Amino acid sequence: MSRPTCTFCHYPLKTCVCEAVSKIDCQTKIYVMQHPSEVKAAKNTIRLAQLCLPNLAVFIGEEPDSFKEIQNLPAENTFLVYPDDNAVEIEKLSQKVPHKINLIILDGTWKKAYKLKMKNPWLSRFKTLTFANLPENQYVIRKAKRADSLSSLEAIAYSIEVLENANTQPLYNVLNKMMGNFIKH
Ligand SMILES: [Zn+2]
Repeated sequence: MSRPTCTFCHYPLKTCVCEAVSKIDCQTKIYVMQHPSEVKAAKNTIRLAQLCLPNLAVFIGEEPDSFKEIQNLPAENTFLVYPDDNAVEIEKLSQKVPHKINLIILDGTWKKAYKLKMKNPWLSRFKTLTFANLPENQYVIRKAKRADSLSSLEAIAYSIEVLENANTQPLYNVLNKMMGNFIKH
């Protein structure tokens, strides 16, 4: 049943995205908590982000045991990207926090992200971040249930643009490549 896949990007050879991949040099470390149901999703944008960002690590699971490394991150420079009532606007944060930042991203639908948050109460150690000026949503495959719903890749791209002025074009190049393939095949 399984089709031959590219060993580097893990897409089927026919839809390999490698020719569009280039690395982004950035200081921010990104820790993704990925709900298991997202792993096999055809439009797993974290997989694309991982190809471009050497500082991105993915942890798959639902229960606290899967995220031990994240639990030990220092609270002073680690932030959870989650738009709750107490969330700090990331655009304001960039002027205040001069040193390296760790970002935690909950990858999954809004429902799954909420579930991840509930199952991992240790996350409340970290301040939450939201976006004041939402980037235009370029990614239309996932049905947005909320107006501020972005793909994880877009959330990451916007965050590192704001925090350290990183050139995030490589993320969009690989996203566009994947979406072109998706439409073709
Ligand atoms: Zn490939």
